[in-house]
Amino acid sequence: MPSAYELDRDGLAALLADQPAYRSHQVWRGLHEGLRRPAEMTDLPPALRRRLEEALPPALDEVTRSVSGDGRTLKWLWGLPDGARVETVLMHYRDRSTVCVSSQAGCAMGCSFCATGQGGFTRQLSSGEIVEQVVAAGRVARLGGRRLTNVVFMGMGEPLANYDRVWGAVTRIHADLGLSARHLTISTVGVVPGIRRLAGEDLPVNLAVSLHAARDELRDRLVPLNRRYPLGALIAACRHYLVAKGRRLSFEWALIDGVNDTDTDADELAGIARPLGAHVNLIPLNPTPGYPSVGTPPQRVASFAGRLRDAGVNATVRRNRGTDIDAACGQLATRVAGPTVPRGRPAGPAPARHGGGG
Ligand code: SAH
Ligand code: SF4
Repeated sequence: MPSAYELDRDGLAALLADQPAYRSHQVWRGLHEGLRRPAEMTDLPPALRRRLEEALPPALDEVTRSVSGDGRTLKWLWGLPDGARVETVLMHYRDRSTVCVSSQAGCAMGCSFCATGQGGFTRQLSSGEIVEQVVAAGRVARLGGRRLTNVVFMGMGEPLANYDRVWGAVTRIHADLGLSARHLTISTVGVVPGIRRLAGEDLPVNLAVSLHAARDELRDRLVPLNRRYPLGALIAACRHYLVAKGRRLSFEWALIDGVNDTDTDADELAGIARPLGAHVNLIPLNPTPGYPSVGTPPQRVASFAGRLRDAGVNATVRRNRGTDIDAACGQLATRVAGPTVPRGRPAGPAPARHGGGG
């Protein structure tokens, strides 16, 4: 049985072949613009609502929902029909609401400092399972009087190792949920063929590359995929993307105490980022159970950022969001943790008061 967001328009039309022609459009709008379950589509006859509720079950079953102390970050742990588990994080800022979606259950890339990587790979997510995460976040945002504006593929998994389904989801999020491509960001650890393929797509999404090291010897250790696609190939692919798409490129850099936070590291990073006009996001490493090092202390973070700026590179220090509910970058690991709201009870976000983060 397909889930509600697995079907395309033709599939839905086929399911409703015995109904008046306008029904399928009406249900499609209910799902994608109304962000409603069939049971909530009060403009449908009750019998049809019941039938659709059975025919189009949700793919995501809410296991837990955690809310950060300040109410601005929400994390879901979802159970999938086959028992796999993934997480989704919704973050409210002053001027936008961003959902961080998972593209795979687990991840095969094995970055040592990342909780998802430490747990290994379970399976690919389907386009519908990705779209449904955005819909769930959109519903909650709307309940809190906010509009979901941005989607980042920075949850569990490596999006470019699940290219077709991720791109299918991007297309649906753009065309059916109505989010602008400029507000969609794909984050990759450096799957070079995927970046090159992305450069040939028609939608100009933002590209974030998780760099973490600007010399091969160090990057080989932090990011095992670097042995397959070393920095030279990665930078060439980034340049190709920039030329093809004209979108802003950003580099993510988890600052690890004593590992990649020296002046030399900053200079090497500037040497790559500046010629590409790339923006650098610095994130002090979030602690994870399987990695011994800690995040760079604030003073060193500030001087690292200062050194980049002196070298003409735009750098932002990202504040950790949702660390108290294990919702921060690299902490998604599908164990049940943090203060949770019992399933089924809606936890609307508190009004956002501050900007920042990203
Ligand atoms: N697989 C993709 C997208 C998901 S990871 C990628 O790696 O880009 C999202 C971001 O979190 C990446 O930039 C990743 O490097 C970063 N990250 C992973 N573990 C982290 C940790 N412990 N602390 C801070 N950032 C981390
Ligand atoms: Fe996978 Fe990204 Fe984590 Fe590396 S950082 S293990 S690519 S999710």
